[in-house]
Amino acid sequence: MKPAPFAFLRPAALEEALAALAREPGAKVLAGGQSLVPLLSMRLAAPSMLVDINALPDLGHVSVDAAGVRIGALARHAHVLASAEAAEVQPLLAMALSHVAHPTIRNRGTTVGSLVHADAAAEMPMVLRLLEGSVDVASVRGRRTVPAAELFAGPLESTLAHDEIAVEAFFPALPAGAGVAFAEIARRHGDYALVGVAAMVETEGGEVVRARLGYVSVSDVPVVVDVTDALDDPAGKALADLEPAEDIHATAAYRAHLVKVLTPRVLADAIHHARQKTA
Ligand code: FAD
Repeated sequence: MKPAPFAFLRPAALEEALAALAREPGAKVLAGGQSLVPLLSMRLAAPSMLVDINALPDLGHVSVDAAGVRIGALARHAHVLASAEAAEVQPLLAMALSHVAHPTIRNRGTTVGSLVHADAAAEMPMVLRLLEGSVDVASVRGRRTVPAAELFAGPLESTLAHDEIAVEAFFPALPAGAGVAFAEIARRHGDYALVGVAAMVETEGGEVVRARLGYVSVSDVPVVVDVTDALDDPAGKALADLEPAEDIHATAAYRAHLVKVLTPRVLADAIHHARQKTA
């Protein structure tokens, strides 16, 4: 199918893009287009205007320091994945990004776009939530920082106002004594996960003092479960908190089975990772 007609604007300054979004309530931001363009073609979205942000300056960065990794709105998944500095400071980024789609899509799709798209089947929203990161957003009213816990409103719905642009995401560094791990089951590598699980554990003297798990494709928003007090049955704790969903890709029972299989494995990998780093 072809998209419904829309006006198209490709501003060269952020202020111009923000003013257009404020003026035109039916406008939508276009970043990598890897999620939005299929929705336009299927007429599941019909914005009155596309505000293409690809010509905006200073948004393509992947900046790394001891605090964490800052990812500009125009940094492509492939750019983030290729950053050895980012993988060093926060290894979960590369672990999860290698499962995001295929190289051609990662060459164009943006990590920040994936966060704003807020797909519970996507890896990076869950990673941002698990790591307790945040997104900086701009509008004609100014700038604000949205913590990951307040970013995801519902299926494919972020809490950003229609006239806000997410300019940067912040993924905190892995603290000393912490470890992370990631695994997912998909029909083919690069397909959306049937279930994906990430773990982040913090240890002191080799003992786990905090353990949290993040789930992809299990609920309609990215979910994090604290299993610090349930290390002997983390999957039981997770399944008590989660309600695996049924869709055309998998039954709820099969998703629950994958949660049972992947959870202890990923948690053990993260504990191993933490102990290796402190050994
Ligand atoms: P766009 O498609 O341009 O935009 C998506 C939405 O976010 C739109 O509503 C847009 O208005 C909004 N938006 C984008 N950027 C901003 C911004 N800076 N500020 C405000 N709003 C913004 N993703 C996965 O995570 N895992 C997968 O396994 C996966 N598999 C895929 C397989 C295929 C075949 C395809 C086509 C895509 C797949 N994706 C997958 C999606 C891909 O990761 C997209 O890149 C990502 O979801 C959206 O990024 P984008 O830059 O392409 O955003």
